[in-house]
Amino acid sequence: MNNQHWMQRDLDVLWHPCTQMKDHERLPLIPIRRGEGVWLEDFEGKRYLDAVSSWWVNVFGHANPRIGERIKRQVDQLEHVMLAGFSHQPVVELSERLVKITPPGLSRVFYADNGSSGIEVALKMSFHYWLNSGAPAKKRFVTLTNSYHGETVAAMSVGDVALFTDTYKALLLDTLKVPSPDCYLRPEGVSWEEHSRTMFAAMEHTLAEHHHEVAAVIVEPLIQGAGGMRMYHPIYLTLLREACDRYGVHLIHDEIAVGFGRTGTMFACEQAGITPDFLVLSKALTGGYLPMAAVLTTDEVYGAFYDEYATLRAFLHSHTYTGNPLACAAALATLDIFEEDGVIDANKRLATRMASATAHLADHPHVAEVRQTGMALAIEMVQDKAGKVAYPWQERRGLRVYQHALTRGALLRPLGSVVYFLPPYVISEEQIDFLADVASEGIDLATRTSVSVPVADTRYPGFRDPG
Ligand SMILES: *Cc1c(COP(=O)(O)O)cnc(C)c1O
Repeated sequence: MNNQHWMQRDLDVLWHPCTQMKDHERLPLIPIRRGEGVWLEDFEGKRYLDAVSSWWVNVFGHANPRIGERIKRQVDQLEHVMLAGFSHQPVVELSERLVKITPPGLSRVFYADNGSSGIEVALKMSFHYWLNSGAPAKKRFVTLTNSYHGETVAAMSVGDVALFTDTYKALLLDTLKVPSPDCYLRPEGVSWEEHSRTMFAAMEHTLAEHHHEVAAVIVEPLIQGAGGMRMYHPIYLTLLREACDRYGVHLIHDEIAVGFGRTGTMFACEQAGITPDFLVLSKALTGGYLPMAAVLTTDEVYGAFYDEYATLRAFLHSHTYTGNPLACAAALATLDIFEEDGVIDANKRLATRMASATAHLADHPHVAEVRQTGMALAIEMVQDKAGKVAYPWQERRGLRVYQHALTRGALLRPLGSVVYFLPPYVISEEQIDFLADVASEGIDLATRTSVSVPVADTRYPGFRDPG
């Protein structure tokens, strides 16, 4: 049974996520038979180096025996039990460990079964906290432009990537949008820190004016992932924490993509030396094995819900698979690896290699910037380097890099015209060099030619779309 066989059976019955299915009339779908470490292998034995950690979830490689064994032991013991009225060993142990490794003050863990649902939990909890505290007017959320927080309707409302939200505008909550501290947009000669500090003025202004009606500010700390791996300086988060305290507004950190070592520290908030009121984790939480999200919060928030049943102050929210034991087992094994292997330290060498292997691309005539925060590195392709003029999205330049990389045995899936590496932490320095070579070739190919724009194409490039 070859690739063609599985592709045909797939296309007869499936509808794929974030995909214009018509694209598959000419773009082959790649059925994967097995994975091992950084590699994915198709049904014809061709291997692809997973440079994007399978949508940012996989940190210790595919078919990792240490995670696999832990799940196998758990599956023979207890596969699932509902978490209302019941409990189990893996969920207790995981919660204890998450409280221990996250910044001081985060003492309670609530579970959901995917990132978007975790965001819904944080938004609802924040609003409900204020309601329980006698401040029902605090019901709006402040968000940054170009942010992404998931696909469910409230999570979409606090996001700002046009590709995902424009179509559904009529359904969305009314939020307050503040310009992102995105350092790609900083004036020439200005440092990341200066720019992030300057951009904070708009946030300060919004909070000063609206704090009485604001429940929380929600941010992706340090890296706006789906918005094109745009990055900013931790000073912004430090200033934001201070302002949220001053104005009596919650701070929600969406560390779904950046948590678990991606930015160079275990959690991004460590770099700002702060504790958010809500910390949302998912993706790498289970090493990329099973869907799960955790929302950590403070005694202060928890206390506002703790009362006699009849007061109806409880948080009556649940997802069926909340606290699933198999997902907890995968998360526990993942945390063991972080601890036993000194991963955060070891990653420093890999991050340095990612920088040196791609440094030459900064001189490329169609690369505006090579930027990096820890184990995330992004290369911004542009039409005009001096003016940072973006390619028209309809030209789908990133798609050419994607297609080239596949022929060379790498899975690089650009966000619009942004080529990025977000590899599993088990990648080797030689494999990083290989990715850099493939990316360089792909960028050369994608920027060399002029492209005719198909008229019928009316969408934007963006997250999960190799556009
Ligand atoms: C992926 C992601 C989400 C959504 O998580 P899902 O599990 O896909 O629902 C939310 N926020 C950020 C920052 C993400 O990267």
